[in-house]
Amino acid sequence: MKSTAPIPIAVSACLLGWAVRYDGRDKAHAGVRSLFASGEFVPVPVCPEVMAGLGVPRPPVELVQVRGSVRALGVSDRALDMTGPLIRQAVRWSAQASTVAGLVCKSRSPSCGLEVALHDQPGRAVGMTEGLFIQVLRRRRPKLPIVEETALADPERRAAFLDRVRTFAAGR
Ligand code: SF4
Repeated sequence: MKSTAPIPIAVSACLLGWAVRYDGRDKAHAGVRSLFASGEFVPVPVCPEVMAGLGVPRPPVELVQVRGSVRALGVSDRALDMTGPLIRQAVRWSAQASTVAGLVCKSRSPSCGLEVALHDQPGRAVGMTEGLFIQVLRRRRPKLPIVEETALADPERRAAFLDRVRTFAAGR
């Protein structure tokens, strides 16, 4: 018999209205919430920075190029280095959340974003890269469909993402 259980999609928790951002606020997004209105999908909230032990509120971090590697360092205090905890928790989560069939992630976040500003030590922008959580997921679960919340405003990209999620779920 065909299962009718809703398909789990991981979502950056701030997009679901969880007040977990560095400034203690959320980024509730109606377009994200509407994905789950029909009951075909169920959201699985994830906040990589809270998982890594950063509190709420917390000092903001940004991605910094340091001797050829990308690190998550404090914006105003470069001695704050959250790279290790962020990567370790992302690895742990990617193993535990084996049932999720997609991810809706927050744009521009140094953890969750797909295109994130990369800085040098003094803080100048030197390029773009993926957030640390995304970098780990790409390595651990390379076929997992991922989209930023900004893409959901485009009906074609939204439909294409959901089709990829259905295909991914059916293929497990
Ligand atoms: S780490 Fe991701 S989920 Fe957590 S507040 Fe930042 S953008 Fe949102």
